[in-house]
Amino acid sequence: MSTRSQLLFAKATELMPGGVSSPARAFKGVGGDPLVFERGSGPFIFDANGKKYTDYVLSWGPLILGHAYPSVIESILQAARNGTSFGATCPLEIELAELVIELIPSIEQVRFVSSGTEATMSALRLARGFTGRDKVIKFEGGFHGHSDMLLAKGGSALATLGVPDSAGVPKQTAQNTLTAIYNDIASVRALFEANPAQIAAIIIEPIAGNMGFVRPQDGFLQSLRDLCDAHGALLIFDEVITGFRVALQGAQTLFGVTPDITCLGKVIGGGMPVGAYGARREIMAHVAPLGPVYQAGTLSGNPVSMASGVATLKALKERKVFEDISRLTTRLVEGISKAAAAHNIAMQLDHEGTVFGIYFLKEPGRISDFESAKKLNDTVRYARFFHDMATKGHYFAPSSFEAGFMSAAHTDEVIDHTLEAVNQVFAHWRE
Ligand code: PMP
Repeated sequence: MSTRSQLLFAKATELMPGGVSSPARAFKGVGGDPLVFERGSGPFIFDANGKKYTDYVLSWGPLILGHAYPSVIESILQAARNGTSFGATCPLEIELAELVIELIPSIEQVRFVSSGTEATMSALRLARGFTGRDKVIKFEGGFHGHSDMLLAKGGSALATLGVPDSAGVPKQTAQNTLTAIYNDIASVRALFEANPAQIAAIIIEPIAGNMGFVRPQDGFLQSLRDLCDAHGALLIFDEVITGFRVALQGAQTLFGVTPDITCLGKVIGGGMPVGAYGARREIMAHVAPLGPVYQAGTLSGNPVSMASGVATLKALKERKVFEDISRLTTRLVEGISKAAAAHNIAMQLDHEGTVFGIYFLKEPGRISDFESAKKLNDTVRYARFFHDMATKGHYFAPSSFEAGFMSAAHTDEVIDHTLEAVNQVFAHWRE
């Protein structure tokens, strides 16, 4: 007999392509029936069958305080009572701009949009408008949303589905996107040399979070900075995942490398649709209405979304909140690592701040870029891990090419339960 979640999903597939509004939700990386979720509370989500899971996906990152965090919900309700959108500047928007500029060191002015995709798409347009050049460099396995310019050789669901690029992107557009290899500075240098005075920008996730979790090797980001300076190109950090998560002030503070433009999303909206891009004044002066680079949005900066972002960033700034989440992330990752060692399971685990990565390895080696991720990542074993953990009530990302996330609502007790389940699952695999 089908469960309620299965019945709902069957109906969803009749009405929406693949039954989802975004492909990563379709469980293509792990197989089985995608779950329909109905409710979230703190570190837990509940599916349409009423089953409770500890959530390590957290809406793919935004919910850094957990589900339905009281001050966030209160702020959203209060804002909504006063009207959901004005199509004009509002005080909450100014408050969020102040918080973002205070926290992210390289941002002097910010423009709000409604998604990470809009942030990166607009940042590229700005970089091209600022430099008067057309080409951009991205990295294989880097995912920056679904705009035409940025869909070449992407990670995330593109990697899960095994499609390098999307159909429907004009060749002329794709030709302006050059792809380099993550952690391979020579591959970037070669592109600059082959395209003199034509490259507007490099866009990079300063820690890659869409081919699993891959950190930059020592000096890699600084070398990108130096190459951009030498060739008159802009350096764009896509901090949609890393912003407010690998460090409260973003990866740029963690690594001490200053980008020209920063893209934000996810946590900045605390679960409501918000994205942003920001830079120093000289660059932002090129954005309309100050300058000729056009970019707009009917619902951008609406008070409900801004209220959610303000409440989230304010709570994060409170003493020790970020440190506490980071400590729990370390505990989880070290616990899984210990369980893997005890049961002789080859894994590559990593974490920074409140984000973590879990790979099962097919053979000995180290994942440091998209090629090695595709070669070494044991997707079959991960799928088994995903399902076994979900059965026990712990929800990890339904794809091994995604990062994992922790929230302020997770506790030591919650982590203990998850680690107990991991140990049971690994022990069972050996039987
Ligand atoms: N950049 C990065 C690094 C992302 O991970 C994502 C989404 N996962 C995006 C951009 C696109 O953001 P959105 O889904 O809000 O459009």
